[in-house]
Amino acid sequence: MAELINGKELAQSIRQILKIKCDELKEKGIKPKLAVILVGDDSASKIYVRNKNKACEEIGIEFEEYILKEETTTQESLIKLIENLNENPNIHGILLQSPIPQNLDINEAFRTINPDKDVDGFNPLNVGKLSLGQDTFVACTPHGIIKMLEEYKIDLEGKNVVIVGRSNIVGKPLIQLCLNKNATVTVCHSRTQNLEEYTKKADILIVAIGKPNFIKEDMVKQDAVVIDVGINRIDGKLAGDVDFENIKNKASYITPVPGGVGPMTIAMLMNNVIKAAENQKLKTK
Ligand code: NDP
Repeated sequence: MAELINGKELAQSIRQILKIKCDELKEKGIKPKLAVILVGDDSASKIYVRNKNKACEEIGIEFEEYILKEETTTQESLIKLIENLNENPNIHGILLQSPIPQNLDINEAFRTINPDKDVDGFNPLNVGKLSLGQDTFVACTPHGIIKMLEEYKIDLEGKNVVIVGRSNIVGKPLIQLCLNKNATVTVCHSRTQNLEEYTKKADILIVAIGKPNFIKEDMVKQDAVVIDVGINRIDGKLAGDVDFENIKNKASYITPVPGGVGPMTIAMLMNNVIKAAENQKLKTK
């Protein structure tokens, strides 16, 4: 029976440490502040933004929300807003909630966010720094996964890490983070043939595809570590990409959904906002 990787509990302890750091910054006259931009009416995005707001409140990070209507938001107005937030010395972190409507260019928007305020780690400069192994803002979900593995003392060195999913926000940054830990990394995606041949070789299997219960027990090696990034809604309930009930008897460690990767993602966002505030304080000294 696998040990459960309790992301909820771990995220809670990280938030407590961040609260202390936030209080220390405030004593020095710096009030960490996150600006979140939400364009359109996506219901999942609204829930994510609400959860980020709650986490900020708990830690003492100020939170400013810009809710833009899909019909009236142009590329120019979105870019102008980001530029204004870049210029505002009271804002330490800027987050553009994705997805945004298709008529808007998200790449230009991410490019416009000041890299020093890019708490989601999606500005190409920060993506490049990650590839070069330099200190930067790392995308929150992959960062949270690595943090979990560290906390549970799961060593990646020399291990076969198989990542299923190659999105810019999860799979791709994970490649670099796992390489930095000296893992042997394989990345699978929708065009991969005979997927199970790869997943069965994984010492550590990380799945981020967005298909409920897609990875079955016979696709997983005995005693593998299984990290389930997926968040799928079935009949109002959340399910991961992994068939948790059956795989939990075979894996050595497994993350639940909910309560696994999700809370860690938010904790890493909070971590990045505090880091941004600390860095900006150093720059203005
Ligand atoms: P994307 O849709 O951007 O990417 C999905 C990836 O999965 C793609 O690379 C795709 O391949 C691959 N894929 C799809 N179907 C298959 C298949 N049958 N076999 C192998 N690979 C496949 O998703 P995201 O990365 O944004 O999110 C993935 C999941 O993680 C979603 O459920 C999302 O809700 C969740 N998520 C959870 C977070 C958290 O905090 N817990 C944060 C972010 C996401 P291809 O590139 O070829 O199309």
